Amino acid sequence: MPQTDLVPSLHPEADALGLIPEHRARQYRAIPIRRKPDRVVVAMAEPSNLAVVEEIQFLTGLGVEPVGSTAAEIERAIDRAYGPGGLPARPDAGPAPASSDPPVVRIQRLLFREAQRLGASDIHLDPGPRSTRIRYRIDGAIEDRFALPRWLHARLISRIKIIGKLDISEHRRPQDGLIVDPGQGVEARLSTIPTESGEAAVIRLFQEQKAAPTLAGLGGPPDVEERLRAMGHRPQGMVVVAGPTGSGKTTTLYAMVHELRQRPVNIVTIEDPVEYRVDGVRQVQVDAPSGLTFQKALRSILRQDPDVILVGEIRDAETARIAFEAALTGHLVLSTLHASDAASVLVRLMELGVGSHVASAAMIGSIAQRLVRTNCPACLRPDTPSELFVRRLGIVEDERRLLGRSPGCAECRFTGVSGRRPFFEILEVDEEIRARLTRQDYSSLGGGRAGYRTILAQVLERVRRGEVSVEEAYRTCYSGGAA
Ligand SMILES: [Zn+2]
Repeated sequence: MPQTDLVPSLHPEADALGLIPEHRARQYRAIPIRRKPDRVVVAMAEPSNLAVVEEIQFLTGLGVEPVGSTAAEIERAIDRAYGPGGLPARPDAGPAPASSDPPVVRIQRLLFREAQRLGASDIHLDPGPRSTRIRYRIDGAIEDRFALPRWLHARLISRIKIIGKLDISEHRRPQDGLIVDPGQGVEARLSTIPTESGEAAVIRLFQEQKAAPTLAGLGGPPDVEERLRAMGHRPQGMVVVAGPTGSGKTTTLYAMVHELRQRPVNIVTIEDPVEYRVDGVRQVQVDAPSGLTFQKALRSILRQDPDVILVGEIRDAETARIAFEAALTGHLVLSTLHASDAASVLVRLMELGVGSHVASAAMIGSIAQRLVRTNCPACLRPDTPSELFVRRLGIVEDERRLLGRSPGCAECRFTGVSGRRPFFEILEVDEEIRARLTRQDYSSLGGGRAGYRTILAQVLERVRRGEVSVEEAYRTCYSGGAA
């Protein structure tokens, strides 16, 4: 049991308070009061509760020195510290000093370190009237991590703008920059935008340390791996992966690129942003402000004799036109599109002005994908979900006892999630589909075909095993549909 002693009064220092957001403080019945070089002193209602101590260690990235107090005392301290007017006062009245302020540098480094450790893809700095929320996108979902006192905001933003080589005196225009910090092993894209409460920032961390995924490493069923591999072996044509933002589309395309790289082919990518860095592949970053749009980049790349072209996303008619032209003239083109399912990809392409004859001649396959969060097995409970979701998903009465949901525990960092599983719906464009495309008959293109199962059917199978909650199934299969 950790050494504990009672603290006379709970007056947290601002530096410490920012380490634990208010909702976590309430959840843990704990309040950070002092920040030491490598640890934080935390007043706790149950200082011997190791799960909570570990949770705070995990949250702050620091050692925890627990001190005992009563639950009522801590609640009052939380109200005082985080509540209205209770945020720490600005320690100095003058203008914010140079942002090389050591505490600010420390906070910035802590944020980056935390984000990397948790595998976050983005760090969000959202200023509010009283505090700045620091949120991470982890496994596709936004998670609150810290609340920083208001007076720290301008300094932290300045610090981040400095490392992103942005103009720190400019507060009224959105700015974009790159952060390269080899010391911390960080490479990131920074974007700031003015809001009512100050400048907000989003930092997208490049997954450079992550090796490009393999088809086997995608985690889908073996037949999906085989079918994607077969599509990648075609000498020319178009493969499109569809799904909402964060559904893993780019990862799937990179898994195909990873395999293609082992063959003597020239691979070029055009992306916005470049998400993975791969040796031996020429990767072009679209830069609209300087005029390097998808269309322009695509046109010049075609003059570079590529065999395989990865086009990050088909967003407009012109990109669609050039990409399909390339797919019909000896290139394998891989791309993504916002569409809800594999059949809708073909409909969406028609809307973008790709003629039905062109699509039918060029398309190899269309794939829809979702990343679905799976229940944490450590805190799995029977679920009684909303009637609307149950009916919409077609769950019958005697299946209800199979439903499960995880409320959250120390093991899953109180998220209820143990990870994400990819689901794929694959439509190989064969003679029959070609003929139907030419006739412009898009009704139930996938229906009844061998090897075609909707994502919904596959997710429901997991729901009936308690592996995926009804709410998550609904979110990913209905509300998470088309863009
Ligand atoms: Zn759990």
